[in-house]
Amino acid sequence: MKKLLLLSLSLFVFSALQGQSHSHGGAQPITYPDIPGYKTLKADLHIHSVFSDGNVWPTIRVQEALREDLDAISLTEHLEYQPHLDDIPHPDRNRAYNLAMEEAKEHELIIVHGSEITRSAPEGHSNAVFITDANLLLNDKAEDAFAAAKAQNAFVFWNHPAWYAQSPEGNPILSDFQKERIKNGELHGIEVINSVDYAEESLALALEQNLTIMGTSDVHGLIDWDYTEKGKHRPITLVFAKDKSTASLQEALFAGRTVAAYNSILVGRAEYLKPLIKSSIIVEKATYIPKTTILKIELKNVSSGNLLFENQMPYTFYSNSPVFEIPAGGSYTLNVKTLEIKDGIELKLKALKAYSAPKEQAVISWDIAVE
Ligand code: ZN
Repeated sequence: MKKLLLLSLSLFVFSALQGQSHSHGGAQPITYPDIPGYKTLKADLHIHSVFSDGNVWPTIRVQEALREDLDAISLTEHLEYQPHLDDIPHPDRNRAYNLAMEEAKEHELIIVHGSEITRSAPEGHSNAVFITDANLLLNDKAEDAFAAAKAQNAFVFWNHPAWYAQSPEGNPILSDFQKERIKNGELHGIEVINSVDYAEESLALALEQNLTIMGTSDVHGLIDWDYTEKGKHRPITLVFAKDKSTASLQEALFAGRTVAAYNSILVGRAEYLKPLIKSSIIVEKATYIPKTTILKIELKNVSSGNLLFENQMPYTFYSNSPVFEIPAGGSYTLNVKTLEIKDGIELKLKALKAYSAPKEQAVISWDIAVE
């Protein structure tokens, strides 16, 4: 008994010490604020389970998404690549979706029905989401798979166009096949962030071809191992929808109202990126330090991304770097030298990790009223 007590005591001390050296806990809910006129839905529309080349059962994907408080996921199994087929035969290719739906039925999580059309370059990989029957997408010719997806009113996006296994320079190559799909209204989006890779060239293509900007995890293992343990949240697409429903999510994706988010990088069209960052920062207090003309502004970041800013004002700072970071969920106090007492100022900052185009970062303004 005594021995047991000692053992459990030392285990307690051991785990307490472990706790000190390891700062990242389990999965945290991911939060990003709504923007004026729209609800911000957090979606990961590219994930895998054992029903293609993933390593987990679909129910785990639902549980992971619930732990991170996502609004929508899609299990996009490779139609043409089925390494577990001998162990898990499933003539009905809707099986992963149906299992996820069953698991999620008591929850608010939206399960989007999807499939990955998997070909060698130049066709590459694409996800068709909001489909109704995955079996009908199984075709010998890639053209027929895309036509079948269109017939189901699917939203289709090009996966990891910069993937070095298909594009050795690590840059996307827009082929005649994709040009044709875009022209036919069969390709609507493009991943600019796939797992840990953000490709500026893919963003350039999205803007040039008017494709919806996507960010996805493309996870095959566990979200915890790939992201949470490293202190990161998975790559997601923030979708600005009229409300939280499958139909509104689909409408917003077709309309291109998205920002891709990963590792404190935000990528999106300026019209959505700017309001997202503006809403992410709450001005908590603005007062002058007594007997000075130094304005103290307390800012809070209510998003799950660390925001790195650079001063864009004519004023300089007192005891702050011109480049500063407000951590996810954290606060920061800026001391602005306004040279005279003012009723208010325009706080103007460039978000250095928020891209609206390659090499182009968003500049955001807040009206600060002095108390
Ligand atoms: Zn995939």
